[in-house]
Amino acid sequence: MSKIILNNEKLSKYNWFNLGGPAKFFFKPKSISDIREFLKNDNKLNKNIHVLGAGSNTLFRDGGFDGTIVKLGKEFAYTKVFEDGIIEVGAATLDKKVSDFAMENSIEGFEFLSCIPGTIGGAITMNSGCYGYSISKYIVSIETLSLNGELKSFNPNQVKFFYRGCSFGEDLIILSVRLKGKIGIKEKIKEKQIKFIEQKRKTQPSRIKTCGSTFKNPENNKAWELIKKSGCRNLTVGDAKLSKQHCNFFLNNGNASSSDIEKLIEEVRNKVFLKTGIKLELEIKIVGKK
Ligand SMILES: Cc1cc2nc3c(=O)[nH]c(=O)nc-3n(C[C@H](O)[C@H](O)[C@H](O)COP(=O)(O)OP(=O)(O)OC[C@H]3O[C@@H](n4cnc5c(N)ncnc54)[C@H](O)[C@@H]3O)c2cc1C
Repeated sequence: MSKIILNNEKLSKYNWFNLGGPAKFFFKPKSISDIREFLKNDNKLNKNIHVLGAGSNTLFRDGGFDGTIVKLGKEFAYTKVFEDGIIEVGAATLDKKVSDFAMENSIEGFEFLSCIPGTIGGAITMNSGCYGYSISKYIVSIETLSLNGELKSFNPNQVKFFYRGCSFGEDLIILSVRLKGKIGIKEKIKEKQIKFIEQKRKTQPSRIKTCGSTFKNPENNKAWELIKKSGCRNLTVGDAKLSKQHCNFFLNNGNASSSDIEKLIEEVRNKVFLKTGIKLELEIKIVGKK
């Protein structure tokens, strides 16, 4: 197992902002028994754990992470099809892969996943979605491993899902999920995927270092509208900026530090509060030491 635990691994390689200091330990398990072995040993490695997907919603701080980052290996990225529009996917599978796999098997419902850049583990944790769809509506069961090594299966009624989140804590590793769509027509499913991808391309920036929407939309409001209305669009801290195309997308314009991004987040949050009385809540996860 020692080969799959790295020391002082740079986290900037593993997130969409390309930011963050090193993780003291970085663990890439290949199997459930790898994880169990890691968890049962009484050592400093498993005292402070954070599970990472594709890092498309995570800002790692400059001081890195004083514990172990667990990133499921490629063995946890797989797709299987069952009867009645049910698919099983490993937690490390990219959302786009799931969408394509469902399309290839003429299963509709997962077209929206084609434009979310994370993994299925991240999508479940965040209850990700777009264009009126969200992953929680399709769940049949979720397989998890708790930090004391117990496998547990959840049905969707045992988990609370809400806008960009769910009731799972940091003490569970999502291993796989079964999702149910509807049998449909492959060409129509493909068309819908393309429509969503095009729609995203028109309204959101691409090929930038960002984690997408930084703040959640408050009830009856759009975060980007509040940011614009509060005169924040051109604010910068070092190389941390807001996207011109979508001002709720914060970006590392080249040489920003995580602390620049965090300072900009606070500045925008304060300005929006002063102008509108609304306190914006973070959608992205901020992890690690300052
Ligand atoms: C350009 C861009 C566009 C985006 N558009 C959308 C959008 O339209 N809709 C939307 O909802 N989001 C969007 N996002 C945000 C992001 O892609 C989603 O939140 C995504 O689901 C995060 O997945 P991830 O694997 O990258 O998660 P990460 O950022 O790696 O982690 C996010 C959270 O999930 C947890 N997690 C990840 N995997 C596991 C696991 N196996 N077990 C337990 N916990 C786990 C982490 O601990 C963390 O709390 C966008 C991001 C970008 C960069």
